Amino acid sequence: MAEDFDILVVGAGVLGLSCAYHLKVNNPTKKILVVERLADAAQGNTARSAAMVRNMFTSRDNLMLAESSINFYRNIQGSGVDLGMKQTGYLWVMSERQLSLNEPYMQKMEKNGIQIERFDLSRLKQALPALNTEFAASDEDSRLMELENVGGAIFGPKCGRLDPEKLARFFLAEFLEKGGKVVYGTEAKRIIVESSKPLGVEGEPFVWQEAKIAGVVLQGEINGEVRAETTVIASGVWNNELLEPIGIDGHVKGKKRQMFTISARNDSRLAALMHNKSFNQLDALPFVILPKSACFIKAVDEEARFWVACDDDLNQPYVNVPEPDIENYKADPRYYEENVYRILKAYLPDFEGHSRPDQMWAGLYSYNTLDSIPFVFLENGLIAAGGGSGSGIMKADAMGRIVDCAYRQGEDGEAELYGGTGYKIKRMGFKSRAVEREEWVI
Ligand SMILES: Cc1cc2nc3c(=O)[nH]c(=O)nc-3n(C[C@H](O)[C@H](O)[C@H](O)COP(=O)(O)OP(=O)(O)OC[C@H]3O[C@@H](n4cnc5c(N)ncnc54)[C@H](O)[C@@H]3O)c2cc1C
Repeated sequence: MAEDFDILVVGAGVLGLSCAYHLKVNNPTKKILVVERLADAAQGNTARSAAMVRNMFTSRDNLMLAESSINFYRNIQGSGVDLGMKQTGYLWVMSERQLSLNEPYMQKMEKNGIQIERFDLSRLKQALPALNTEFAASDEDSRLMELENVGGAIFGPKCGRLDPEKLARFFLAEFLEKGGKVVYGTEAKRIIVESSKPLGVEGEPFVWQEAKIAGVVLQGEINGEVRAETTVIASGVWNNELLEPIGIDGHVKGKKRQMFTISARNDSRLAALMHNKSFNQLDALPFVILPKSACFIKAVDEEARFWVACDDDLNQPYVNVPEPDIENYKADPRYYEENVYRILKAYLPDFEGHSRPDQMWAGLYSYNTLDSIPFVFLENGLIAAGGGSGSGIMKADAMGRIVDCAYRQGEDGEAELYGGTGYKIKRMGFKSRAVEREEWVI
C-alpha cells in the first residue's frame, strides 16, 4: 500500500516547487510529496519561457507579486546561488499614442515605488541608434502593417533575465534538503473525492454528505491511491485535466506561444547590436519591446543569439485541456517569417536578411482569462494555484508563499510576501476576488 502524506503537490514546474519549498520551510514536520509525470523537474512550460523578469505591470497585484519575487531572487543570487540573473532592464519602445495611453500606468508604477525612466525620442535615438524611429510615407510595408513612428520609450532598470531551471532547482534542492520527497515519471490520474465521514456504503459521497479531497490516484513510479490531508494542484496549464472531472473550474486556458532565435555569430551588425552601454552596467542590450504586437528581442550574449517573439492574442486558439506532451506544440518557421520578422526588420533594420530562425520552440501560456492575474483558491482539502498568464516565473516565489499561507491559515489568511508586504489570500480566490486586471501581458 502506498504511503500517506500530509501534503501532496502535483507538478514540479517552478510553481509547484516554490509551493513545496515554502510549505516545507513553514511546516517542517509535515510529510510532503511532489509528483511529476515528466522524467525531471522544470521540463514543462518552465523550460519554454523567454526567461525574463519584470516589475513593470499595470496591476497593483502583479506589481506586488513580481517585485517581491524579484527581490527574493536577487537576495538568493546575492547569497551565492547562481540563478542566472542579469539586470539588463526592459525597454518598452512606444509610439506617441501608446505613450499617452500608458502614462496613467507609468504614474501608478511610480506611485507604487517602481523605478522607471522615460526616454524621449532624441535620448532614445542616441541610446539605441539601430532603432528605426520614423517610416517614410513611401514605405509600403510599414503602411500595410500600420506601424507607428516611435515616440519614445520607458525603461525599467530593475527588470532583466534569469534562468528558470536554476530557480526551480534552487527550490527543489532546498525542499529535498529539508526532507521533502519528489517522484518523477509519475502521473496524477485523478483526484480522490470522498465523504469526510465515510459510512462504507457504495456510491459515496452522496450529495447529502460533506465531500472532501483525499489525495490522488497515481500511475508510474508510485501506483494507486496516495492519500493526503491537503492536495495542491500546481500542474500549470494542465490544471483543468484534474479539476474539471471533479466539477471544479480550473480557471486556466492554454494558448500557444512561439519563440525563435536568430544567431548573431556571422553578422557583425547583429553582434554589435548585442552590446550597448546606454542602459546598464553589463554592456548589454536590454530586453526591447517594439510598438507593434509586443514584438520583443532578448539579447543572449553567451549564445551570441537573439530570442524573438510576438504577441498574437487574436486568432490563436485557446486550449482547455492540453495534450500531456508539451513537445506536441511546435513553433512554425513561417510564423516567424511572415509575422515576427516583418515587424523586427522594420524597426531594427539590422535584422534584414535573417528571415529564418536557427532554433525555435513553442510552449503554452496558462491564462486566467478573467483578469490575467494568478489565482489561489481552496476547496475542501485542496488548494489550486496557477494562471501565471505568461509571467508565472517572475511571480513564483510570491505564489508559493500565498499557497503556504492558504494551507496554514485558510482563505481568511494574509500571506507575508518577501520584504514583509501583506497579501490577503481572498484577493486571489474566486469567491470574493479583488485583484486589479493586468493590461501589460506580453
Ligand atoms: C513561450 C513562453 C514564454 C514565457 N516567458 C516568460 C517569461 O519571460 N517570464 C515569466 O515569468 N514567465 C514566462 N512564461 C510563463 C512561464 O513559463 C509559466 O508561467 C511558468 O513556467 C509556469 O510554471 P508552472 O510550474 O505553473 O507550469 P509548468 O512549468 O508547465 O509545470 C507544470 C508541471 O506539472 C506537470 N503535470 C501536469 N499534469 C500532471 C499530472 N496529472 N501529474 C503529474 N504531473 C503533472 C507537468 O509535467 C509540468 O512539469 C512564458 C511561457 C511561455 C510558453
